Amino acid sequence: MKFQLLPSSFEDGLPSARQHLTSFIVDDRVAIDAGSLGFAVSERQRENVRDVLLTHAHLDHIAGLPLFIDDLFSVLTEPIRIHATDLVINVLERDIFNWSVYPRFSELSNANGAVIEYHPIAPAAETQIAHLSIRPIDVNHQVPSTGFIVSDGNSLIAISGDTAEMDGFWEASNSAGKLNALLVECAFPNELEDLALSSCHMTPDRLARELSKFDGGDCPIYVINMKPMYRDRTIEQLNALAIERLRILDVGKIYDF
Ligand SMILES: [Zn+2]
Repeated sequence: MKFQLLPSSFEDGLPSARQHLTSFIVDDRVAIDAGSLGFAVSERQRENVRDVLLTHAHLDHIAGLPLFIDDLFSVLTEPIRIHATDLVINVLERDIFNWSVYPRFSELSNANGAVIEYHPIAPAAETQIAHLSIRPIDVNHQVPSTGFIVSDGNSLIAISGDTAEMDGFWEASNSAGKLNALLVECAFPNELEDLALSSCHMTPDRLARELSKFDGGDCPIYVINMKPMYRDRTIEQLNALAIERLRILDVGKIYDF
């Protein structure tokens, strides 16, 4: 499984490691979250990605979606399929695609037909998205949010999305089979514990406690969703945990899981 975290900020014209927005691309074909989807995809990804799976509706996870659809509007030969829970779909229709912030694409077509299609997903119900089997799992964030267990038939990964402490995600990850990678968030450094608590995010100390619930053998663990302002400090504290299989997911790098 080819897996890439798209860049979302640039320094001197080159992608930077700072992650303001979240979008992952699987096999150049399926997007998981759409933070920078409209402006950081390769041409190949722009041509191939027609399925977008969303963890939740916070802006840093959906900001690039309207631009991605807009860019492709006249050339689409099939709709862009947006896979999300009903709660997330309702937010998109009410707050983003509402004619005030952006056009309501669900009411628009090009010469080939509809340009978007909503595909509701439900927690714990396995669903097929392109070549992937996806199992959504409710996690614990400030707004309704799901993590995912993703399989392409050969590899299996688990992605937490934005979350604080949780149990269901760990139970699902532990019982899913041998994982090739776990991707888990850690937004803030330890000194911002109060902010992490109120915004339902992890700190390195909280993550270390959570990982005691993960029973993944030697599965590599990649940290995602670090707030860019605190990135260096958070990495320092994650390294101090001295968890051998814990690493930071590099922005832009294409992983083969
Ligand atoms: Zn969030």
